[in-house]
Parts: sequence; structure tokens; C-alpha cells
Amino acid sequence: TLDFHPTGRHFLQIPGPSPVPDRILRAMSLPTIDHRGPEFGALGLRVLKGIKQVFQTQHPVVIYPASGTGAWEAALANTMSPGDHVLMYETGHFASLWKKMATRLGLEAEFLAYRGGDDRMPEAASWRRGVQADLIEERLRADRQHSIKAVCVVHNETSTGATSDILAVRRAIDAAKHPALLMVDSISGLACADYRHDEWGVDVTISGSQKGLMLPPGISFNAVSPKALEASRSAKLPKAFWAWDEIVEMNQGGYWPYTPNTNLLYGLAEACDMLLAAEHGGLAGAFARHGRWGEGVRAAVRAWGLDIQCADPAVYSPVLTGVMMPDGVDADAVRKIVYERFDCSLGTGLGKVKGRMFRIGHLGDCNDLTLMAALAGCEMGLKLAGVKLAGSGVQAAMEFFASQPAPKAA
Ligand code: PLP
Repeated sequence: TLDFHPTGRHFLQIPGPSPVPDRILRAMSLPTIDHRGPEFGALGLRVLKGIKQVFQTQHPVVIYPASGTGAWEAALANTMSPGDHVLMYETGHFASLWKKMATRLGLEAEFLAYRGGDDRMPEAASWRRGVQADLIEERLRADRQHSIKAVCVVHNETSTGATSDILAVRRAIDAAKHPALLMVDSISGLACADYRHDEWGVDVTISGSQKGLMLPPGISFNAVSPKALEASRSAKLPKAFWAWDEIVEMNQGGYWPYTPNTNLLYGLAEACDMLLAAEHGGLAGAFARHGRWGEGVRAAVRAWGLDIQCADPAVYSPVLTGVMMPDGVDADAVRKIVYERFDCSLGTGLGKVKGRMFRIGHLGDCNDLTLMAALAGCEMGLKLAGVKLAGSGVQAAMEFFASQPAPKAA
């Protein structure tokens, strides 16, 4: 049990679920209403309008009462036919899980990966970087028959803390004059890192509630381009619950064909208001806040003398930072100390990097001072675990935050 920390707030410093602002928790405490009644229609229209702005799209955004994994399946089930070839890119654990799902659905999934070397993690070099769009272009050019039906990439790889340049992937597909759909998992990127569904020519963007949207887990999304909707009309994988057509149709009145997640939708309405509020700089303000937190956390990691999991500074994630342990240190042992002694949850290393790194989330109900506290917990935990630190990360992060102007009101 958790009764050894009876007061104060637990520090949920994992890269999702993220801490939920009180304002959203209060909004979700409203009574559950008739999902066929007039009040609900108004709520439905409100959230559908708000969420389109967050995805930066004019086209439909489908909301499912499911975790992100469901929305991954929805994206594939709506657009693909049995045996279709999909080109995916190994950025980390979540890209690998999505590939496994594609295979389970009966698709032929091919993985591209970074081909260069890596000093610290030669066996997981691709897990330290973003997508290399030139590899995608090269592969698509070689596919003269156009047998590849979709290119699937992860925008913010939550297992590593590396982002990918989605516009570069779009340009690679266009340069190869290839008709494949572009599908992007922005489950942990949306509302933290700049993301533009329409402008970047994405066909399906998948996202979830429990990260940048600052909601509890339980709803997820497919933003759908006209080309993807068209593809869904002839695609042959079985789809029923996930099928876009009936949902998009009923959404016109603010309703769903099944019982939607009413209280999470109250929360979503509030989250959209918070994220889009002009007085906080709108979406650009949210991206700037996360960028600042990421920089502060990386200043701390550098001062500790530890390596950042993402080896390419051009694609550092504003959402989370992966902290690599010196050889011989078990990252999960450090996490255990930080959890038990300081009531702070850090993200575990997943898949290929299990035990070799931990992750610090800097998203959700977060500010400079909550992050300072989390970094203090990490620093104390690292020392207690016997990790030799080059210097104080807390001091470096304080200096960084103090040197930055206060977040600007618009
Ligand atoms: N994709 C990414 C990038 C994720 O971070 C996650 C969850 O952390 C998922 C997919 C899976 O989403 P869920 O756990 O909500 O099913």
C-alpha cells in the first residue's frame, strides 16, 4: 500500500498517464447525462470542434472510448485489406508494438531502422533517434508496383524521448511519387509537440487522452483525411466497432452510435478550452511550455554527467527525457528508491532498453517548480543508488529556469 506517504501529492512523473489538472477533474465530476438527449448533443459538438483545433485539422476526428492501442487498430482496420504491405519505422518500443499489431491483423509489416552506429547502444541505435525520411523515400522509390499501402511512423516515441519530423516523411512520400497513406501515432506528442495534421498531409493521426491532453486514460482518437476516408470505403479488413462511417455520420449531430465516455468528454471539453485559451498563448503556448520543461530537464541530466537517451539534439522530445544509466547500474533500482523514498513515479525502460534507462515525463499538470521537485527526487535517488554524479542537476535546472522569462501572457 501507499500509506507510507500520507500527505502531499504523489509525483506522477511518467510520460503518461500525466497528472490531471484539478480544473479537469472538477469538470469530469459533473453528473453523467443521457447520451441521446439534447444537452449531450451540445457537448458532443463542442468537443468535436475543440479537438479538431488541437489536431489542426478541418476534417473529422473520430473519438473512441478506448486506449491508444484501440485507435492504432482502428487506423489499420479502417484503411487496410488482408495481406496489405505496410512500411513502419523502428523508433522504439511503441513502433514495435504497432508493428506487432499490424502483423496480428494479417498485414505484411516491414520495419526500417537507422543504419548508422551508436557508441553506447549499438544494438538499439534506432531507439536513440527519429525517423530518417530518406530511408523511407529510398524504400518507396524501389516499390515500383506500389504494393506498400501505408507508411506508419510514431511522432513522439514515448519509450525513448525522440521525436520524428513528420513533414519530412510527407515530403519523402511525395518525392517518391508514392500513393501510400501516411499514418502517424501522435499518442504522446499531441498538444505537447508541434503537430499539424492537415498542413503536414497526414492521412490518419492516432492519439490518446492520457498524455498532452491531460485527461485520464480512456478515450483515443483518429484524425482522418479525405483520402483515408475514401480508402476506408473499399478496405477489406473486418471492422465494426472501429468503423469510421457510422461514427462520422452520427457525429454531425454531436452523438455516437454507441454509449460514449460522457465524463471523459466533459474533461476533454475543459482540456480543449485550457489548451486553446488565447491568454495562455493557445497551442503555440503549450508547445513552448513543454519545450522549456524539456530544456530544463536536459540541463539537469547533462550536469549529472549522464547520457540522454535521444542521441540527436535536433529531435529531443519536449514530452519526456530518457536518462541512460552508467554501465552496471540498474535503472529500475534507481526508480524503486525514488518511488519508495520520495513518492515519485518515473517511467521504466521498455523493451530493448529495459533496466538501462528511466524516463522523466514533463507533461500534464506541470510547471517549473513541480519539475524542480521531481528532479530533486531523481538526484537524491541517484545518489542513494550509488550513482556517481558529475554535478548537481538540480542546480543546473534552477539556473536554467531562473534565466528564462516567465511564460508570456498573449
Ligand atoms: N503509442 C505511443 C507512442 C504510446 O506512448 C502509447 C502508450 O503509452 C501507446 C501507443 C499505447 O497507448 P495505450 O497504452 O493508451 O493503449
